[in-house]
Parts: sequence; C-alpha cells; structure tokens
Amino acid sequence: MTDYAAIIHQVGSIYQWLDGRLAALAPACRACGNCCDFEAYGHRLYVTTPELLYFKHFTGPGIKPMPSGVCPYQADRQCTVYPYRFSGCRIFNCHTDAAVQNELCEEALRRLKALCPAFDIAYEYLYLKDALNLLSQNKLHLP
Ligand code: SF4
Ligand code: SF4
Repeated sequence: MTDYAAIIHQVGSIYQWLDGRLAALAPACRACGNCCDFEAYGHRLYVTTPELLYFKHFTGPGIKPMPSGVCPYQADRQCTVYPYRFSGCRIFNCHTDAAVQNELCEEALRRLKALCPAFDIAYEYLYLKDALNLLSQNKLHLP
C-alpha cells in the first residue's frame, strides 16, 4: 500500500530545499502574474506525479480544469495556491539567469522522480494544462 503521508512529507521537504536555494539566488519576483498566463507569456510549465499528489492533497479534491492558456488558480493576477504551487512555479523568475533555473529544475526533477520508485508510484511529467484537465475529469490516476 502506498505510504501517501510519507510522499506528501517528502515533496514538502523538496519544496523547502528549493525555496531555500531560490531565496539565496533570485531577486524578488514582483508577483505581477504575467508568467501564469502561459500562452500570452510564451512560457510552458510541466508538473510531476508527486507534485500533483501534493497539490491535490492540499487543494483538492475539486481540481480546476484549464480551458485557456491561463492557470485557473490565478485570481486578480495572484496565485491562490501559493504555498502548494509546483516546482516550475517556484523556479521560474524572469529576473534570474536561465542556466541557473535549468540547473535547479534538473535537480528538483531528479529528486521528485526518485520518489516514484521509492514509493512504487508511476512517474508522469505533464504539461500543466494537460495535468489539470485530466485530473479534473478523473482521467489521471493518482494513488
Ligand atoms: S499554481 Fe500559482 S504560480 Fe503556478 S501557474 Fe498557477 S497561479 Fe501561477
Ligand atoms: S517571475 Fe516575472 S513575470 Fe512572473 S510573476 Fe514574477 S515578476 Fe511577474
């Protein structure tokens, strides 16, 4: 049986590690919300299975679909799920060097991916829009 509580704890620890690295690196984001309008901004965000489990645990079970290019969790240009946002949301910063972001992204993904065999869950790496649409229609199986 999947140790659900342990996965949630492990994802939280990865986010804590990531937030610590980002605090030391990145100039403050102005929280203008532009980059959460993916199509207008020309930005893509991918999410992993352990992150979706964590996200659903804290924000679900009614996951919102994403019919447009704008994240449905943005309201009045602000993130309404800020403490539970994905690693890609945390890492992307329009003021930070892309190579630094790529390096952090790779390490975060390596850590998130490693949770899957450790907890015997399938690893998925999905475009945010696809993940939210599938989850909202119960077409994506999460343990
Ligand atoms: S979860 Fe929050 S930070 Fe991430 S894309 Fe949606 S609104 Fe933006
Ligand atoms: S990273 Fe840049 S574009 Fe995105 S919310 Fe922050 S200031 Fe705005």
